[in-house]
Amino acid sequence: MEYLSNYIDGVLLAPVHGAYLDNVNPATGTVFSRVPDSGADDIDRAVAAAERAFPAWAATPAEARARQLLRLADLIDRHADALARDEATDNGKPVALARRVDIPRAAKNFRFFATAILHAATEAHPMEERALNYTLRQPLGVVGCISPWNLPLYLFTWKIAPALAAGNCVVGKPSEVTPLTAFRLAELCLEAGLPPGVLNIVHGHGARAGAALVAHPKIRAISFTGGTRTGAAIAHAAAPRFKKLSLELGGKNPNIVFADCRYDEALETAVRAAFTNQGEICLCGSRIFVERPLYERFRDDFVRRVEALRVGDPLDEDTDVGAVVSEAHLEKILAYIELAKDEGGTVLCGGHRVRLDGRCAGGFFVAPTVIEGLGPDCRVNQEEIFGPVATLIPFDTEEEVLAYANGTPYGLAAILWTENLGRAHRLAARLEAGIVWVNCWMLRDLRTPFGGMKQSGVGREGGWEALRFFTEAKNVCIKLDDRDPA
Ligand code: NDP
Repeated sequence: MEYLSNYIDGVLLAPVHGAYLDNVNPATGTVFSRVPDSGADDIDRAVAAAERAFPAWAATPAEARARQLLRLADLIDRHADALARDEATDNGKPVALARRVDIPRAAKNFRFFATAILHAATEAHPMEERALNYTLRQPLGVVGCISPWNLPLYLFTWKIAPALAAGNCVVGKPSEVTPLTAFRLAELCLEAGLPPGVLNIVHGHGARAGAALVAHPKIRAISFTGGTRTGAAIAHAAAPRFKKLSLELGGKNPNIVFADCRYDEALETAVRAAFTNQGEICLCGSRIFVERPLYERFRDDFVRRVEALRVGDPLDEDTDVGAVVSEAHLEKILAYIELAKDEGGTVLCGGHRVRLDGRCAGGFFVAPTVIEGLGPDCRVNQEEIFGPVATLIPFDTEEEVLAYANGTPYGLAAILWTENLGRAHRLAARLEAGIVWVNCWMLRDLRTPFGGMKQSGVGREGGWEALRFFTEAKNVCIKLDDRDPA
């Protein structure tokens, strides 16, 4: 049984009070490691270490900071196979997906922000009154990064890379449900020779370790990705302390398919957009709206393809759909499927737990589920399920589907399939979503602003947006002296 450690001040440490939580492998249902159940004392230590490290790290030239982060990226690449296996074991996702997406993206996050800071520039505002304003963007100090369980290393590094690149020191709190690759990252930081205290990783429950981090008076900003309810609790705790906040929250994303779409591509992508990572991606298109003339053909082909997805052992290279992350989450997903039936929906495929043989007999598997016959306002079409469940809804007009698409409290992403350019622009402008994908899904350029509207979040990550978030803008106004010194 492996015991994971916190990473504080450049040292792997047991939690102050010696308490640990079980870490369950969702594919087998068995405990395979123990993770520190940290509390306020551990957070205090980590923040103190980060504070000590901050002056030197902030003063380190950008090129030297970049070199450190690039070294980390190289180490992630070097250990990619082992990290992918760890991610699959901890989260339940197919190892092939972790190897193709999660781990390369973690390395890319470091590379992207390490090189971005080499090109950073700030603004100047000359005034007619013979004065010059220029903007300094200075690191904030010690910042907190809190990440969820669905894309563990991918999202953890998406936060800490820009924070560190901008010259901040970080206390990170990964989800205690999937702590393993964050722990491995700590080991890689040791191997990379990252100065002690620059990055600190404290494991534990959100309600204890996470809440202590948010409340800590020395933490200047919180970057959080997770559920909308947790985001609200964090905003509530952070607001009176005047911390900067970046919140990336839940989604209930529409996938809108017009009859003029490139059919095969729309169909294949709709399956991926609904079921990749067991549907546990905030950007998944779980509400699929299909223009009526195409509806029946699309529905039948979609269901056939979904039925062909292989639910299996995450470590099996051929698996399409692995285990959902925990037993509690399995129960939640199954409860939503029951609710769909109560609300009048028809389950076209899936709709049940899958029992596998052998090593995975105790695992948490759900058959990919497609439901039709539900109105856009029912709970199943309004609330985030975050599992392998998609609904199909026909529509007749642009106005109608726009109202459906925008008719939830969320506004993270929207997907649109049409060959009509005018319609694509028209709808892209009116969809209430931070990201609109036209004829594609999950095509990500790390320079673009990333985030949600309405209850899907506050602020944007990605590119300069992230570097701006992790810096304080300071305007310096200098009155120019035109007098001749002689
Ligand atoms: P949670 O909101 O439950 O948890 C996210 C993180 O916050 C975890 O590390 C959690 O710890 C911690 N946490 C929980 N309570 C508190 C608190 N009071 N104070 C500080 N930290 C706390 O989300 P999940 O991990 O369940 O992730 C799934 C959610 O994340 C979905 O809603 C999904 O849509 C959203 N998400 C959003 C993305 C986006 O970019 N918009 C991307 C990916 C996911 P613990 O694990 O102990 O609870």
